[in-house]
Amino acid sequence: MILQLGSKNYSPQRIFCIGKNYAEHVKELGGSAPGQPVVFMKPVSCLVSPGETIRMPTHGNNLHHEAEVVVLIGIPGKSIPESDAASHIAGLTLGLDLTLRDVQSAMKKKGWPWEISKAFDQSAPLGTLTPYDDTLPLDNIPFQCSVNGTVRQTGNSGEMMFAIPTLIHYLSGIWELMEGDLIFTGTPSGVGPLHPGDRVTLHSDLLGTFEWSLA
Ligand code: ZN
Repeated sequence: MILQLGSKNYSPQRIFCIGKNYAEHVKELGGSAPGQPVVFMKPVSCLVSPGETIRMPTHGNNLHHEAEVVVLIGIPGKSIPESDAASHIAGLTLGLDLTLRDVQSAMKKKGWPWEISKAFDQSAPLGTLTPYDDTLPLDNIPFQCSVNGTVRQTGNSGEMMFAIPTLIHYLSGIWELMEGDLIFTGTPSGVGPLHPGDRVTLHSDLLGTFEWSLA
């Protein structure tokens, strides 16, 4: 997928995702706070543009919405210091880290990788990007997720256990970050099931409103 931002096009090759990054969400899943960022990946083929219909996956029964702030990397870098992290960001938006919770629980129990619960087709709906500049406070982005008009998740990037600059520092210590990399930064509490016919809306006063329907 080509992502447009102003006059520039980005061709993401990687989607990094962060798990367990909001204390209340860790609690609702019955886990404990990780001592370091929990990182997993989704293939870029999982991305879904706003307004596209999402088909329910058929290899599980409990599809959950996870509303997340998403960062687009614009300037490559290796071992980026936290103090310099913001200068590597090209854009921000909201996205959904769709998760088959029942499948994820089964994979966790077996100690197996959880890709089939998180990285299936259409598991990464992504909003339209807003160009990043320092008028956008990385530590104070309010956002919410509604299903059929009812608010399910309310969060703020300021509640992250590992803030956006920390995540960029951490990830770039392992991978040389590339132009077009996307980082899904974790979800606040309130995750819950989706059903065929549901309409999911992500909203942030700073980033816009994006909507998807489930078939
Ligand atoms: Zn997530």
